[in-house]
Order: sequence, then C-alpha cells, then structure tokens
Amino acid sequence: MEPIPCVNCATFFTPRNCKQNYCTKAGCQRARKAAWQRYKMKYDVDYRSQQYLSQQKWLQTNPGYYRSYRRRNPDKVQRNRTLQTIRNRRKRHRLSRKKLTDNTLIAKMDARKFCHFNLVGQFYLVPVIAKMDVSRVNIYTISDGYL
Ligand SMILES: [Zn+2]
Repeated sequence: MEPIPCVNCATFFTPRNCKQNYCTKAGCQRARKAAWQRYKMKYDVDYRSQQYLSQQKWLQTNPGYYRSYRRRNPDKVQRNRTLQTIRNRRKRHRLSRKKLTDNTLIAKMDARKFCHFNLVGQFYLVPVIAKMDVSRVNIYTISDGYL
C-alpha cells in the first residue's frame, strides 16, 4: 500500500489495511483509542450507560476521591470552571440561534452527493506551519456538460 499521513502526527507511514489512519507510535495509538472512545460515548447508548455504571461502581468503592482531587489540584478546578462557563455560553448561544433559524429557514441547503464522477486521485493537505489536522482531497473529472 501507498504511504499515507498519520491523522495524529502527520508523518507518512505504510498502513496495514485501507482502514488504518494512525501510525504505530504509542502517542498516536493513544489518540486513536481516545477518538474511538469519544465516538462510542457520543453515539453508542449502551456503551455510554455501561461506562456510567462502571464509574458509579468505582465511585462507591472510592468515596471522597473527587473531593480530595479538587483539594489537591486547585488549578484544574479553576480550569474546569472556566471551560464549563464557555460550554454554558455556547449552549445558550446555540439555543437562541436555533429559535431564530427555525422561523427563518426558507431553503434546503444540503450538499448534493456526486459519486458518478471519475476519481482522478486522492491528495493530502499536510499542514507545515500551523497545527491542523491532515485533510484528504479527492479530485474528480467533470464532463463538459457541467462547464
Ligand atoms: Zn502518528
């Protein structure tokens, strides 16, 4: 297989199969697992409820853990409060915007899928200066009728 850039560190590596997006470095494998767990927590109801039950069980066997954790790490307590304030503002902003768009939506804006074009090649935009994720770009041929 052709070398592709790692989704986490952007270094090129040869994947074992077409589904492998992360290289074999320990940090990248940790990032892959964290992304998988974020995905599961967001979309898999059973997984989310099992995680919740597991955490509750662990908390029952370790009472007072978070109280002592917060006492030991006041900087993390402050960081969490700041981030929660930002999340609350975003949620409020999203809710107020949703009320506006529900009444003013007049056109369907979904993107049209065009899979009948011929794929010329796949390219990767790898950031050199700024810290960004790698983007994959597909180049298709378009017949003269669309010009
Ligand atoms: Zn990597």
